[in-house]
Amino acid sequence: MGMKQRGLLVVFSGPSGVGKDSVLKKVLASRDDLKLSVSYTTRKPRDGEVHGKDYYFVSKEEFFDVVNSGQMLEYAEYCGNYYGTPLSTINKELDAGNTVILEIEVQGGEQILRKFPDAVSMFLVPPSLEELTNRLKNRNLDSQEIILKRISEAKREIEFSCNYKYVIINDSIDECAGKILKIIDSEFCLFRRMQEYIKEVLNNG
Ligand code: 5GP
Repeated sequence: MGMKQRGLLVVFSGPSGVGKDSVLKKVLASRDDLKLSVSYTTRKPRDGEVHGKDYYFVSKEEFFDVVNSGQMLEYAEYCGNYYGTPLSTINKELDAGNTVILEIEVQGGEQILRKFPDAVSMFLVPPSLEELTNRLKNRNLDSQEIILKRISEAKREIEFSCNYKYVIINDSIDECAGKILKIIDSEFCLFRRMQEYIKEVLNNG
């Protein structure tokens, strides 16, 4: 027996500054069957960001070369930059039984959920809009102008949470990470994901 289940495709979204990176860092550190997909972006790298690890930082031309060659699973424009998920390694990871997490904004999330209805969707919300504003200011990553853009974007994004199956409030990184792992474990136990296993049990009995 010992058949390996196909991994889950997870769409993980939430407004800018809600803490998606910190929560995912915790989640990814706890298990090695969880993989974060590395996106393409035309945004300039922030201090400390590494090409190939945080993002593939590319020009607009390079970005659309990938799109036009059919190798982008989804893409969207967000605050004046393009972001997209490359197809490349995703199927290989899923076939190997690994779960692939896409940390993407809501328009991209919508495209993925339309193409892959079986994907698991999670939306991370801040405890309050005030808290979100403070976090964006305190992290000192963006200029005042960009922060204002991201806050107005945040409200619009939170409205999109209705497209997601699970909503998680980020009041504590540890608790959020725990909830995400429980959701992933539960999703693996859904009958439709266990069907192949059940068949095998019955056939080899
Ligand atoms: P940031 O510039 O703060 O790194 O990301 C801005 C937004 O783009 C975030 O909400 C992030 O989740 C989203 N994002 C990152 N990669 C992708 C991607 O490949 N596709 C889409 N649609 N959004 C992405």
